[in-house]
Amino acid sequence: MTDVMKDYFLDLDKAARDPKRKVAWCTSVGPAEILRAMGFEVFFPENHGAMLGATRVCMDTIPVANANGYSPEICSYLTSDVGAYMKGITPLTKAYGIESVPHPDVLVYNTNQCKDVMHWFEYYAKEFNTPIFGIHPPTNLPSIKQEYIDDVAQQFKDLIAFLEPIMGHAMDPEKLKETVALSLEATNLWSDVLNMAQTTPSPLTFFDGTIYMGPIVVLRGTQIAVDYYKNLLAELQEKVANNHAAVMGEHKRIYWDGMPVWGRLRNLSNIFKENNACVVASTYCNSWVFSDFDPNDPLPSMALAYIKIFINRNDQFKEAYIEKMVKDFNVDGVVFMAARTCPNNSNAYYNLPRRLKDKNIPTIIIDGDLCDLRCYSDEQSATLIEAFLETI
Ligand code: SF4
Repeated sequence: MTDVMKDYFLDLDKAARDPKRKVAWCTSVGPAEILRAMGFEVFFPENHGAMLGATRVCMDTIPVANANGYSPEICSYLTSDVGAYMKGITPLTKAYGIESVPHPDVLVYNTNQCKDVMHWFEYYAKEFNTPIFGIHPPTNLPSIKQEYIDDVAQQFKDLIAFLEPIMGHAMDPEKLKETVALSLEATNLWSDVLNMAQTTPSPLTFFDGTIYMGPIVVLRGTQIAVDYYKNLLAELQEKVANNHAAVMGEHKRIYWDGMPVWGRLRNLSNIFKENNACVVASTYCNSWVFSDFDPNDPLPSMALAYIKIFINRNDQFKEAYIEKMVKDFNVDGVVFMAARTCPNNSNAYYNLPRRLKDKNIPTIIIDGDLCDLRCYSDEQSATLIEAFLETI
C-alpha cells in the first residue's frame, strides 16, 4: 500500500513537470475513466483533503480558508485543501518529498456527490487559469430513469469533445473500453474485499477499509489497482481461512454511516476494539463500488454507475440500503456520524436513525467532522459509543 501510493504521487509530480504529459484534477466519484483513457494523469483533491485530515495539518489550513471568505460551515475537505494552497503547504512534502500538488491542465467535477466540489474546482480554475468542465446529473434520486442515463451519457460525450483539443488527440474508443474494463475489475475486487467482513469474525474493520480504499479512489482504470486488490483479497482470504479476527474476541458488529473522522481513525478504532466491537461495514467504503460499469457500453454504463451512488439517492433508498447491509453483515447496531461540514454525506438529520430504530435496529448519532476537529469531541464520542455498545 505504501509503495502503491508513493509511486502514484511521485509519478504525478513527474507528470506535472513534464511538458509532454498532462494532469487532470477530478472529483472522487467523477469520470476518472474518461480522463485516464484520454491519457491524463489524474489527481483527486478530496484524497488530498483526507490526507490533510488524517495528518491533522488541516487544523492549520482550515482557518486560513475561513479567514479568506470560505465559511467554517462548508465542506472541510474544501477548506483544508484551499487553505493549504493559500498557505503553500501540502502533506505530500513530509510523506514523499513533493513540493506542491501537481498543477492542473484541466479540472473536471461531478455534482453527483455535492455542489461544494463545483465551488472548490471553480476556485482553482480561476487561480490556475485552467479550463474546467462540470457534470451536472439529476440528484437525490428515488429511482434511476433511462432519461437520466441518457442525459449524463451525453454530458460525458460533451466532456470528451471538451478534452480532445486540450489533449491534442481524439478519444480512442478501444482505450476507453480497456480503461472501463480495468475499473470494473478493480471495483469488483474492492467489493469482494469489503464483503470479506461478512465472515464472523471479520478479518478487517471499517478503519482498515479507509486505508485500503486509496487505490480504488485514485487509481481506478489502471492495472495497478487491479493487482493491489487481488493481493489484498488473497491476504484476507488467508486470514479468514486461519480464523483471524481484526478485533480479538469480536462480540458486536457495527455499521458506520457517514464520513470517517480522518484525524481520529486510530482513536475511534481503539474505542471499538477495546469493547470487542468490530465496525464491519460502512456506507463510505462502499461508495466506490461501481458494478454497473460495462466495457462494451462505456458511457451509458458509467452514467448509470455514477448517478446511482448512495449519496445521490433519496432517503427511502438509503433506508432500504442500510437495512440490507445490516442483514448481510449481521450487524448489531448502526453508528451515524453527523459531519458538521458535510450534510451531503450525513444521514442523521431527517429521522433515518429513528426509522431504523423503529425496525429494531439500534442506532446512535455522534457529532463530528471529516477534517475539522473543532467539531469533534473525543470524550463525548467515547462516552456515547461505549454506552451504545453496552446496550446492544
Ligand atoms: S461530499 Fe461532503 S466531504 Fe465530499 S466534497 Fe462534498 S461536501 Fe465535501
